[in-house]
Amino acid sequence: MRFHKAELFFFLLIVLVGVGGIFSWAAYSAATGGVVIGGVETAANFAFMGAVLAGLSAICGCLLVFPILSHGLRERGKLQRMTESLSVRSQSLEHAAVTDGLTGMYNRRYFDEALAEYLEAFGHIDKPIGMVILDLDHFKKVNDTHGHDIGDKVLRQVAECLQIFTRYHDVLARLGGEEFAILSPNITESQLYNLSDRIRQAVSELRINNGNVTLKVTVSAGLAIWNGAESGEELYRRADKQLYEAKRQGRNRVCAA
Ligand code: GH3
Ligand code: MG
Ligand code: MG
Repeated sequence: MRFHKAELFFFLLIVLVGVGGIFSWAAYSAATGGVVIGGVETAANFAFMGAVLAGLSAICGCLLVFPILSHGLRERGKLQRMTESLSVRSQSLEHAAVTDGLTGMYNRRYFDEALAEYLEAFGHIDKPIGMVILDLDHFKKVNDTHGHDIGDKVLRQVAECLQIFTRYHDVLARLGGEEFAILSPNITESQLYNLSDRIRQAVSELRINNGNVTLKVTVSAGLAIWNGAESGEELYRRADKQLYEAKRQGRNRVCAA
């Protein structure tokens, strides 16, 4: 068995304290005429040895054991701080993997996973679940006319607007570009239509400042209610078809399956 330096010094300290204790006891006994033969002189010798050992113990403790212990504690503290910052970092990486950097919304990856989970869960209970796909109208023109940065500002403001209207258990995501989606459990088609139309209205009322110019944008939306049997992909395709229909009919409107 191999001993660590700190352990060896600790044993040495214990031995010194122990032997010092024995000498102190012997000194006491000699002075009080107990077990040990001798008089004052012997007691003084023992006391002197006890004092020397006590001094050696103190030196051993201060110079050998204490530095090793405090170094160990410092290292442990460093390690703890490192593991804490690593776990914060891995949490933020996990978060970054499912969020969109521009708007802070969930991304397509998260949306697809949530969709699969919701359909699995709602397959067991008799509750409706709806999906809305929203796409900004003529957004390329916004970029072309006002620049990409203003386009980004528009996306952020639209994202904030969507966030205001969605409920706690709705899943809201930016699927990519200027396309957003809402997955809304426990909602009827007419309720989902009303929600989508209120969002459409609110987006059309947004005012985005670009210096002296104030910009307005509109959004088209398509929605579908899960039929209880189709896959997430099929539900998405039905909602997307309605979005296409809204675009075809002239944009800035909501179409339902
Ligand atoms: P429609 O009404 O048919 O949807 O027309 P649109 O112009 O909105 O659609 P289109 O697909 O032609 O153009 C989408 C544009 O969105 C093109 C692209 O430059 C822009 N876009 C995509 N992602 C971003 C982004 O992150 N930031 C900015 N500023 N623009 C983006
Ligand atoms: Mg568009
Ligand atoms: Mg698009």
